[in-house]
Amino acid sequence: MHIETQCLHEGYKPGNGQPRALPIYQSTTYTYDSTEHIGQLFDLTADGHMYSRISNPTVACVEEKIAALEGGVGALCTTSGQAASLLSILNICRAGDHFVAASTIYGGTVNLFAVTLQKFGIECTFVNADDSEEDLQKAFRPNTKALFGETLANPALAVLDIEKFARVAHKNGVPLIVDNTFATPILCRPFEWGADIVVHSTTKYMDGHAVQVGGAVVDSGKFDWTNGKFPELCTPDESYHGITYTESFGEKAYITKARVQLMRDFGMYPPALSAFLLNLGLETLAVRMERHSSNAQKAAEFLAGSGKVEFVNYPGLPGDKYHALARKYLPGGCSGVISFSVKGGRQDAVRFMDSLHLANNVVHVADACTCVLHPASATHRQLTDQQLVAAGITPGLIRLSVGLEHIDDILEDLQSGLDAI
Ligand SMILES: *Cc1c(COP(=O)(O)O)cnc(C)c1O
Repeated sequence: MHIETQCLHEGYKPGNGQPRALPIYQSTTYTYDSTEHIGQLFDLTADGHMYSRISNPTVACVEEKIAALEGGVGALCTTSGQAASLLSILNICRAGDHFVAASTIYGGTVNLFAVTLQKFGIECTFVNADDSEEDLQKAFRPNTKALFGETLANPALAVLDIEKFARVAHKNGVPLIVDNTFATPILCRPFEWGADIVVHSTTKYMDGHAVQVGGAVVDSGKFDWTNGKFPELCTPDESYHGITYTESFGEKAYITKARVQLMRDFGMYPPALSAFLLNLGLETLAVRMERHSSNAQKAAEFLAGSGKVEFVNYPGLPGDKYHALARKYLPGGCSGVISFSVKGGRQDAVRFMDSLHLANNVVHVADACTCVLHPASATHRQLTDQQLVAAGITPGLIRLSVGLEHIDDILEDLQSGLDAI
């Protein structure tokens, strides 16, 4: 099946007389004929749902679809993108361990890695993803367990050189984890470039309609966990009568452990209704990403041509710093998010924002409806102009998430914003 077809048909395949739409199994638990069968579920020797903190039939269909779209062997849905990033690390790191991450990753992930995980004894070193392999290598230590990056960074819009990152990770015997939220598997499939684990905030394009917060972890099944660095995956887990993940689950060792051990203990599993809503978004993901990308390309070109705009960050523009990487990793389009700065600074950015009629002023991106955010007035409000520049955000910077409206209506809206300056 082509990926457009997979969006509609993977995961849920109704049989004769069954509902066309994915059913919402709103049940906490599942009945079995024998005590012995339930005992086998607890020993992980039989298949089946036990309790909706660990798995649920509606969520399972969506997990299967996401795994298929990314070309992985299995996926685990979570209650948020933050929960997915957290699980991806905790599944292989414990107190005393270390990992490396690109410094341009989403701000919420930076906070999780730099501040909160630090309190649990897991240390993260941030690197400039544009550095050479030799420079990246300097961040690695004997206790390093993973390398983490973002395909298309939010909001820097830096494109990750996935092959380079994969080479450095594998040279050090650790997996490459890639946050593929902004690209989605429609525009880039990181496993094809050497990534081992993919995480998503499904809140963004996968849902696409701003109706559910969710995340996913996807396993490529390709990483060798028996190389001596990951004893928890290849030595017995006493909480399951001594089962060894790599022996019992083979290429699904990582994703099975994440579910039966971490999801069991942390309980950040999404409700069936959220998975149902996410599935509706996934059905149209391929057509939406095409339109988001082509609209954003035109909007970026329009803004770049305005004398009132200082600069535009969009890897689809020929002059962009990441254009060459975008041509390699994002040949089908560069997704829907643009950041740009108006020349007049903070005041003109506010005038621009307040003159828009169509675009919603919201703390969200990747919605079907066009939306804008002025970081200096919202997410980075507490910073002075000087501090903003140090954080890579100019006072006039605007993050524009281009929606699915007709491009002429979007451009007219942007023009009315520029006219107000
Ligand atoms: C939003 C976002 C997250 C966090 O996801 P939530 O669903 O908001 O928890 C992680 N990574 C990226 C790239 C994001 O844009």
